[in-house]
Amino acid sequence: MSTLLELSGVSVSFDGFKAINNLSFQIGEPEMRAIIGPNGAGKTTFMDIITGKTRPDEGRVLWGEKGVSLLSMSESQIAQAGIGRKFQKPTVFEAQTVRENLAMALKNKRGPFDVLFYRKSAEGAARIDAIAEEIGLTSDLARPAGELSHGQKQWLEIGMLLAQDPRLLLVDEPAAGMTPSEREHTTDLLKRAAQTRAVVVVEHDMEFVRRLDCKVTVLHEGSVLAEGRLDHVTQNKDVIDVYLGR
Ligand code: ADP
Repeated sequence: MSTLLELSGVSVSFDGFKAINNLSFQIGEPEMRAIIGPNGAGKTTFMDIITGKTRPDEGRVLWGEKGVSLLSMSESQIAQAGIGRKFQKPTVFEAQTVRENLAMALKNKRGPFDVLFYRKSAEGAARIDAIAEEIGLTSDLARPAGELSHGQKQWLEIGMLLAQDPRLLLVDEPAAGMTPSEREHTTDLLKRAAQTRAVVVVEHDMEFVRRLDCKVTVLHEGSVLAEGRLDHVTQNKDVIDVYLGR
């Protein structure tokens, strides 16, 4: 497993308040990582820094085997480099079918020029079918996305991100509002996605984090408080104190 993304000594202040404070973080490829931490710990700001939405005041954010700085890249260049982000609320095109939604997201690895052709080609259709199977929506391909359940919309959006073949997928609270069986499906889906890429999941639901069965990074006051397996970090005295509000 080689390092895909490395943050070191990163700090961000908002009006003098340090939302991220000398944070260092590494993720490999492939790898699954869960980020936990109380409200205000800096989880959203951390993701915003990676995607270029928020620029740090200090520190380095390096990407890929060549260690290219993401700080000199625009948000769209960062997305093009292979970083996909899923926000908590699903944003799919409700009036379009599941197939159309996936087709719109499909990225042509051969270059941008024949992307419209690729989306309609047999190769593109086969890729859409494969993603639909991956996310469990094969029998829903012809349905308008607006008819899907909340859980299905979340999977469709994950599928739309997978269609862009990111090397790093950032996912914000994927299990929120899901039924237990939907959660199980989401766990399986993310675990499969993490077999070939880096996946970072920000999640409050500890049972969901347990099922992800991966290394966990605990954020607190903008820094990494603890890192390791869930059983290990939940026994850490500092982590217990933070979660019990001591
Ligand atoms: P989390 O996602 O873990 O709840 P956030 O990254 O949203 O934490 O926020 C970390 C801290 O930074 C919080 O105290 C929050 O109020 C503050 N913060 C985040 N964004 C801004 C902003 N744009 N302006 C001022 N303060 C902010």
